[in-house]
Amino acid sequence: MTAARMVGMAMRHQRAVGWPRRINPHIRRLYINAVRMRFDPMLGGGSGDGKLLKAIWDELNEKPATYLDVPLFRTYMERMTQLQITEKLAILADAAKYDASCASSGTVKRSSSKTGGIGSTEGMGICHAYAPDGRCISLLKILLTNSCIFDCHYCINRKSSNVRRAKFTAKEVVDLALNFYKRNYIEGLFLSSGIIKSSNYTMEQMVEVARSLREDHDFRGYIHLKTIPDADPELLEAAGRHADRLSINVELPTRAGLAALAPEKSQDRIEGAMGGLKTSILDGKDAKKKYRSAPNFAPAGQSTQMIVGADAATDSDIVRRANGLYDQFGLRRVYYSAFSPIPDASAVLPMQRPPLMREHRLYQSDWLMRFYGFAPQEVVDAAEPNGMLPLDIDPKLAWALKHRAQFPVDVNSAPKAMLWRVPGLGTKAVQSILRARRWRRLRLEDVGRLTVSITKIRPFLIADGWSPGGLTDMEHLRAMVAPKVEQLELFA
Ligand code: SF4
Repeated sequence: MTAARMVGMAMRHQRAVGWPRRINPHIRRLYINAVRMRFDPMLGGGSGDGKLLKAIWDELNEKPATYLDVPLFRTYMERMTQLQITEKLAILADAAKYDASCASSGTVKRSSSKTGGIGSTEGMGICHAYAPDGRCISLLKILLTNSCIFDCHYCINRKSSNVRRAKFTAKEVVDLALNFYKRNYIEGLFLSSGIIKSSNYTMEQMVEVARSLREDHDFRGYIHLKTIPDADPELLEAAGRHADRLSINVELPTRAGLAALAPEKSQDRIEGAMGGLKTSILDGKDAKKKYRSAPNFAPAGQSTQMIVGADAATDSDIVRRANGLYDQFGLRRVYYSAFSPIPDASAVLPMQRPPLMREHRLYQSDWLMRFYGFAPQEVVDAAEPNGMLPLDIDPKLAWALKHRAQFPVDVNSAPKAMLWRVPGLGTKAVQSILRARRWRRLRLEDVGRLTVSITKIRPFLIADGWSPGGLTDMEHLRAMVAPKVEQLELFA
């Protein structure tokens, strides 16, 4: 194509979109260039310089009030919605993988595409959550859009990131969820989003998805909405009326970390919104007790997510923060997401991701506080002097090794709370021990049948015919009970 034809095309396009008089001349020039170079605005690059397009897009997003009714802006939005649904799904399901809403992430990559086998661990889009009755349910996990007017350093979707962008309309998400549901692929929806135009505008779109599913289609499946703390409280209220669970990300464990890595976010605003949700959830429960017909408000409660390893916060800082969040806002879960380096990362971020095992140890410490009766300070006591939990052993074993004076405990007489503290004994094993010892005295072999590693248990237990003697106080006990390096045990 000749230069003259390209310019002609740009001018025709300019007339077709009804060029606005008040548009910034800089934007006008950029746009003419973009058309001349045949950019695909939403594919972020195409045949030319993607940065040029980004400059236009950022300018539009930064001043949405100025450009909202500008045909150019609408043109971009239209181009965006013209992307094929499957293409959008690939982009927006992949972009949602950083939301740690489920426990199915973190495995190794496997694909059968080249082997002729079956199955893959690489595809995104479906995650799992647990229903109140313990059932594991599959959720369609997507973003409404991966465009964002914020520039959080750690986020692949931040304004300055050079990634392909896409956006679903509310109706498209509703149709996708219903189609997948009817095909039995999913039982619910997890919806998150970057922020486009404004927090309120984005939240309205998300609420519309949940409203339409519930009211227009009588959808009874699970809905989890990731909410935007800066949105109006009325919109968060509306979200809670339709969703089972709401979540607001605290993002980083410390105020300083948030200020450094997500300067447009505010811990006070985030916590204010979480406090508002807590009140609404409690009010909803009270109303439900009095009147069976009272509407539900987020019956599965609220949760949050913290990024681990992007700032200088130690595991002790994270454990204290998580505990504070559980206490203050009555959270159902705090999810941890190990920071993963992103393309064109900001210089303020670490070059390497933290070990995945760190995220796992934090989840284990979370379980110790929620299910094993450990106080937050006791979990912090399990950490090394630098405030980090050991990676080679789980936090319960680390705590036991530091508090050997409290062991061994007698499996035939110790109270439940003390049995919970024995490394290697989970809550189910303790329950079985309590049941069994009503009828007979237990030997070490009996306990061994309830646990994965008898080696780990022996120094900390007395049973019929077994006493660890000096084993509990041996200098090299840690080396004896630590799992071999290649064994990464998942549960204490
Ligand atoms: S607001 Fe959310 S989507 Fe936007 S840059 Fe920050 S973390 Fe990413």
